[in-house]
Amino acid sequence: MGMVESYDKEVGDAMKAELSRQRRNIELIASENIVSPAVMAAMGSVLTNKYAEGYPGKRYYGGCECVDVAEQLAIDRAKKLFGAEHANVQPHSGAQANTAVYFALLQPGDTVMGMSLAHGGHLTHGSPVNMSGKYFNFVSYGLDEETGMLNYDTIRALALEHKPKLIVAGASAYPRAIDFERIGEIAKEVGAYFMVDMAHIAGLVAAGLHQNPVPYADVVTTTTHKTLRGPRGGLILCKEEFAKAIDKAIFPGTQGGPLMHIIAAKAVCLGEALKPSFKEYGQTVIDNAKALAEALQGYGFDLVAGGTDNHLMLVDLRKFHITGKELQNRLDEVYITANKNAIPNDPESPFVTSGVRIGTPAVTSRGMKPEDMKVIAECIYLTATDFENKADEIREKVNALCEKYPLYE
Ligand code: PLP
Repeated sequence: MGMVESYDKEVGDAMKAELSRQRRNIELIASENIVSPAVMAAMGSVLTNKYAEGYPGKRYYGGCECVDVAEQLAIDRAKKLFGAEHANVQPHSGAQANTAVYFALLQPGDTVMGMSLAHGGHLTHGSPVNMSGKYFNFVSYGLDEETGMLNYDTIRALALEHKPKLIVAGASAYPRAIDFERIGEIAKEVGAYFMVDMAHIAGLVAAGLHQNPVPYADVVTTTTHKTLRGPRGGLILCKEEFAKAIDKAIFPGTQGGPLMHIIAAKAVCLGEALKPSFKEYGQTVIDNAKALAEALQGYGFDLVAGGTDNHLMLVDLRKFHITGKELQNRLDEVYITANKNAIPNDPESPFVTSGVRIGTPAVTSRGMKPEDMKVIAECIYLTATDFENKADEIREKVNALCEKYPLYE
């Protein structure tokens, strides 16, 4: 960073300011994390200079013998970590990974089932503003009104009614465990392909703390930068029978040259996830989420689905007469970062919302423990209820926590 600062001050200053922000703030965005210095170094490496269209051993460019080693390491580690028959480590992002799977398995106009964005699914699971929703006939399933959880009988009934060619499972804002085996059975019953997008929970799956979808799904996609704690990017795992189609759908189907520096960083991250210490990390992510959820409930907050089994919770703010947008803005002012998020059947617009999504992957990477979650819950409560009087006091608590757990020092 010092190098960028002395070479290009404007960009360097922005980068330095971002480092200071990350050091000063408590990071609660459920999809973010803090990578290791080794993952960071791989991303900022000479591998960015290399074009390597194709796959290890079958490239369209010369000079690929070294990047081949890095990509093969990433592939082998991904297969080992998740018990997969085949891995493609080239998707530039989670959205790219999902697009490639649709390109491999579907024809435009095909019927697909996915979780509704408004109930916690992802844009790429059929939102009308996304290519997935425009090119395919997505039928959305949502959460049970009473429990706030997935209802597998309802999903089955919808599948029997619509006979989709593909069922997509996975979510961006669902706090409970997902029974992939059960949805896989439904897909089999109706003759559909089954794809799981495990972007949010991949790190928990890697740590053995969430059911692994790989044995039950034809194809599994993920991002590498959320709970998995790697570089920004995507990854596809699949059964051998889909390997050729998936590889072709990534290159040349939907992407050009792979980002070899990011693939090297994926290899480093997957190596980290194979170590026993990553299990401990995953367990602490879950312990922290449970502690934070319980403490928030202790202050009277309602949580969608009544709590959390994973790394995130969705806080329903209606009882406190504050919108998600307002709470997000206030939290920014006291150096806590979270995102407004629609709750199921939200009366507010997606730009305002009645909820916030809160996750523990980043604070756990920083070293925080369940006792620290009590402090964070108190800060959130005071921000929601007595912001005018308590803002300075909250900032002091946040500063103390951040100083207790220094970042990149
Ligand atoms: N899938 C899920 C479930 C996600 O939550 C996200 C991102 O938030 C994505 C896919 C897309 O990932 P990316 O932002 O890398 O395109």
